[in-house]
Amino acid sequence: MREDRERIAALVIHPRARRLLPIFLVALVVLSWWRLSTPVIGPVAELGGATMGTRWSVKVHAPELDADARDDLDERVQGALDRVNALMSTYDPESELSRFNRAQAGEPFAISAETAQVFAVAREVSERSGGAFDVTVRPLVSAWGFGATDRAPIPPAPEELAALRARVGFALVSLDPAAPSLRKERSDVECDLSAIAKGFGVDQVAELLLAEGHGDFLVEVGGELRAAGLRAADRPWRVAIERPDPGGGRAIHRVVELRDRALATSGDYRNYFERDGRRFSHIIDPRSAAPALHPPASVTVVAERAVRADAWATALSVLGHEEGAALAEREGLAVYFLVRGDEGALRAIASPAFEALFLR
Ligand code: AMP
Ligand code: MG
Repeated sequence: MREDRERIAALVIHPRARRLLPIFLVALVVLSWWRLSTPVIGPVAELGGATMGTRWSVKVHAPELDADARDDLDERVQGALDRVNALMSTYDPESELSRFNRAQAGEPFAISAETAQVFAVAREVSERSGGAFDVTVRPLVSAWGFGATDRAPIPPAPEELAALRARVGFALVSLDPAAPSLRKERSDVECDLSAIAKGFGVDQVAELLLAEGHGDFLVEVGGELRAAGLRAADRPWRVAIERPDPGGGRAIHRVVELRDRALATSGDYRNYFERDGRRFSHIIDPRSAAPALHPPASVTVVAERAVRADAWATALSVLGHEEGAALAEREGLAVYFLVRGDEGALRAIASPAFEALFLR
């Protein structure tokens, strides 16, 4: 009987495998111990509210957070975003930016450290995009009926546009980062930070969470995002790139896993007006003083900081997918364009850096 059993065992387990069995068992025990001792990330607290004419949300892994601490954190995030809004909104006539827009030429206008940081990134993206991104575009944004204006969306007369062009151009504003202060060359220069402030808000919230010791979170302000750490053990945060739908519907085009990075999308699909069968985008090409002629259906940029991703997404919308893709490659930017073909079919164009991050 015993002999039979040994014979069967010898048939089932090869002698060399039998010698390795103890090593295998030890490895199994070590592995399960390691797996159990690796902290599994706890429950996610979800916070949210309104800011900058849109919504914000935060998901943070904070198992130790009780209801009071959660409310407290919610308030502090809201406070950080309220501050960005109070500095940079063009809808609030008393914001720092609105006061700068009314300031006289020639005099240094003292600004907060935050506004100075945003202008520094704006200047860099403006220079690197050959002026496609330009926060002095506000007079044109208003003239075309977008932004904080009561003006009807009617294309302005050519003479009006010619006069407005003289008021637009980053060279008309200088930043002294040490003071910090801004100075205008003309009193009628006006800036609009809508293309960059949401991204900056996302970064401010991310910095706040990091400073408080939170390492695993996803921050979102009106579609601009920044992820840190993981959403669950071994699992990065998953975020959707929307399918651009001019009808206003929301559908997912593709999902990417984001780790310690920011993602911003600019699109022509939600904010535009139509007249005489033509679509006018809210994204203005400062070089032609008119809405961008062929903006991609959407442009998604992934970068370390959301402020930069936000600014570049707008810049590349102005440039369009051909010029934009070439620039993205030269600059090493991770960019994903969605372009609508003649039959309305969507075509995706990813920069090499985007491919390396998500498509390999
Ligand atoms: P975003 O949704 O981030 O692409 O920002 C678009 C908004 O930025 C518009 O609604 C305008 O207020 C402003 N904007 C439009 N064109 C430009 C431009 N060329 N450079 C900077 N800001 C712009
Ligand atoms: Mg933007």
